[in-house]
Amino acid sequence: MNVLIWESDGASPSHSQKLLPNPTLLVLDRVEQDPTRFRLIVHVDQEPECPVCGQASRSRHSSYYRCLQDLPWQGMAVQVWLTVGRFRCRNKSCPREIFCERLPGVTRAYGRQTDRVSEIVRVVGYIAGGRPGQRLLIRLSIPTSDDTVLRRIRQAPVQPPASLPVPHLGVDDWAWKKRQDYGTILVNLDRHRVVDLLPDRSAVSFAEWLKQHPEVAVISRDRSGLYAEGANLGAPQAQQVADRFHLVVNGVLRRRVPVKIERNERQRCLIKNAGSWGFGRARNQRNGGIHSGATTGPR
Ligand SMILES: [Zn+2]
Repeated sequence: MNVLIWESDGASPSHSQKLLPNPTLLVLDRVEQDPTRFRLIVHVDQEPECPVCGQASRSRHSSYYRCLQDLPWQGMAVQVWLTVGRFRCRNKSCPREIFCERLPGVTRAYGRQTDRVSEIVRVVGYIAGGRPGQRLLIRLSIPTSDDTVLRRIRQAPVQPPASLPVPHLGVDDWAWKKRQDYGTILVNLDRHRVVDLLPDRSAVSFAEWLKQHPEVAVISRDRSGLYAEGANLGAPQAQQVADRFHLVVNGVLRRRVPVKIERNERQRCLIKNAGSWGFGRARNQRNGGIHSGATTGPR
């Protein structure tokens, strides 16, 4: 059951008007609440333009309701109920006769979430993925499906790689199929964005890509010779540096190896001493080996 929270007197706008997406376009009429969510009843105040020819029209054909999911209030979900109009386009040369008014800054055509909620869903999807993102969003009172989370990620605007200079480039391989087939990934280190994926892992293709991007000044790469050769061929002017990821990984591995060797050596000493101290000797003999006796020695 809906409970009326606030209703407009039609004279002065509400202070809650500012909470709406694009408050210059939407006008708040009423706020209702049911046990699970708030419902904002709004109407649109604009002179709609035909999406094809751009001509404004006041010739209303009909109207319909749209329900949009918006940002939650105080831990409760929020729906925006809009009365949206259909209008006739009076431009004789326009192929569109009837159009639905668009809602810039609120939502896209056929959208069921406001743009600001779509952005939240997209960011959560990037960080958490489909189903974990869905569970997190439900806790944040933005109920949605895992399919929608994944769809928002796919709808993300793609950075135009050719239009952005790449002064600092990161290069590494990526797997089409692990241990079998690899390509090359190129990253703009200033923007932390992937700028291109090369289908193979070869010095020639990497060099060809670099020749098309003479602005590259620094190339961060692993310490294999393949990308070094490609960098020398395609961008001899660029400075090549070892990337931090591989340095850290290799450093960690190098630190771990002596620890492992030391651990094995210590275990061998315990086994040896266990034999000389006589602890667990009988059981070891019963087990047919000395290995288990190491755990029965002094600690
Ligand atoms: Zn038109």
